[in-house]
Amino acid sequence: MTNRKSELETLRADLKARLARYEAHQRREDGALEKDFEEQATQTQNDEVVDSLETETRDELSQIEHALERIEHGLGDSCESCGEPIDPRRLQVLPYTTLCVDCAGD
Ligand SMILES: [Zn+2]
Repeated sequence: MTNRKSELETLRADLKARLARYEAHQRREDGALEKDFEEQATQTQNDEVVDSLETETRDELSQIEHALERIEHGLGDSCESCGEPIDPRRLQVLPYTTLCVDCAGD
């Protein structure tokens, strides 16, 4: 459980760093992503990709925050939907999950 918590905290830090890079890109603070693209059209396409990556990362981040909150409250090992314990092997593979395999449907 302590391992899972620190794993999630590491993951959270990674995602925050990634978000900061996406945001810098969107504000054109970082030219690194641009230099390979010659056409304005490609740049726009790239913006859309970064946009969707950013949305994805935000979703992941809020999932992690949520899982960490449940761990803080001592609920990290129980399914949020049915209250049954979550299989530890599942938590190992998906440390940010808050649902058991039955409720998640995967
Ligand atoms: Zn469940």
